[in-house]
Amino acid sequence: MKVVKFGGTSLASAEQIKKVCRIIRDDADRRIVVVSAPGKRDKADTKVTDLLIRYAERYLDEGAAEHEKSAIFRRFEEIAEGLGLSPDITEPIMADLHEVLSARKVESPTRFIDMVKAAGEDTCAKLVAQYLQSLGEEAQYVNPYEAGLYVSDEAGNAQVLPVAYENLHSLRERSGIVVFPGFFGYTPEGMLVTFSRGGSDITGSILAAAVKAHVYENFTDVDSVYAVNPNLVENPKEIREITYREMRELSYSGFSVFHDEALIPAYEAGIPVNIKNTNNPTAPGTMIVAERKSHKNIVSGIASDRGFCSLYVSKYLMNREIGFGRRLLQILEEEGLSYEHTPSGIDNISVILRETALTVEKEKRIVERVREELAVDDISVERQLALVMIVGEGMRQSVGTSARATLALARAQVNLEMINQGSSEVSMMFGVKEVDVDRAVLALYDEFFQPEPVVSQR
Ligand code: ASP
Repeated sequence: MKVVKFGGTSLASAEQIKKVCRIIRDDADRRIVVVSAPGKRDKADTKVTDLLIRYAERYLDEGAAEHEKSAIFRRFEEIAEGLGLSPDITEPIMADLHEVLSARKVESPTRFIDMVKAAGEDTCAKLVAQYLQSLGEEAQYVNPYEAGLYVSDEAGNAQVLPVAYENLHSLRERSGIVVFPGFFGYTPEGMLVTFSRGGSDITGSILAAAVKAHVYENFTDVDSVYAVNPNLVENPKEIREITYREMRELSYSGFSVFHDEALIPAYEAGIPVNIKNTNNPTAPGTMIVAERKSHKNIVSGIASDRGFCSLYVSKYLMNREIGFGRRLLQILEEEGLSYEHTPSGIDNISVILRETALTVEKEKRIVERVREELAVDDISVERQLALVMIVGEGMRQSVGTSARATLALARAQVNLEMINQGSSEVSMMFGVKEVDVDRAVLALYDEFFQPEPVVSQR
């Protein structure tokens, strides 16, 4: 049995949905289908989820948002028409959507936003199920509450509850094709809560783990995961096989093909994930597995992400001061900040944070508190940093990878703000100024993936 998830661009129009249904019907093992909300039809288009969020925010502010509302209905009506669904089938679906959007009484704004946001996936799942039925398939829309996809009550950031796996296991027994909306679950009390953005990947992974699928196929709009951002390098190397750990590191640092939280359920249940292309379904795609058969490549991929900052603290004899690190991190905890990395020396430590989390007010308070409470010699904050990550299981067995990387970066005149090798040795991280990040990625790609170094265009 396969669990198959289709992303927003795969469902952006009736034409795309027809392709999706062809893929489903091509393989009798594709029994559980998870759908996103319709995404962008072209670069200038707006995702239905973004339309819904805009709608909800405006509705909360002004009591109505007619422009956004009609844009949402237009998208779904166009799809229903393109699929040739008759009005007696689509009317009840549109009526449900109407009901969600016109909440008479809003108890809590976050609750309302989550309900509206989820309507994209929910409506899409109903239409796909109806279309499959119109083709003569036995297909049914399944609501996450009815199926027992229970989650924690954290608006926009739901976490699956262990009991959900037991509940969802029985989806195995349903006959025909189950069409399940991604992106949201319910608290056991019946309140709808969404996962973080891009969270339909998470739904698919939970379902795959719960029904013990033999593979979780994740259909998107690229042939595979690439070794580097394809916007930076033309025809980058495709990754055929990658481990969960490598994928986790790459999706953390800028690879957006697969949601980083979505790996956990599949990983824990040992289910391979196959990233595939709806527009080229016969291409093998990328397999995410527990162990790679081939370690021919030392490095699997190079990723980067912007928007970091570092809090640098130094104090003479820091290494001998018991509890220094804990007290520093406790100040951050009390300010509600989670940190990303903590490279350190004997008398200094840097804490790397996401820039958006460290507001100017928080920065001021933290600097004052660290100065006073920890009596440090020096503290400073540097913003506009980027992280560049080279990722590969093969690095553990090979000597000299960091030397090759730093030499390549030196040749490209990239100044390194910090270096951090994760203790798992699956990744090596370089902190650089944002202005240098693309040059750094190209230099590393040339070093590890080009047979002959090429002269970078940037
Ligand atoms: N539609 C949701 C989003 O845009 C979830 C998803 O597509 O996975 O974030």
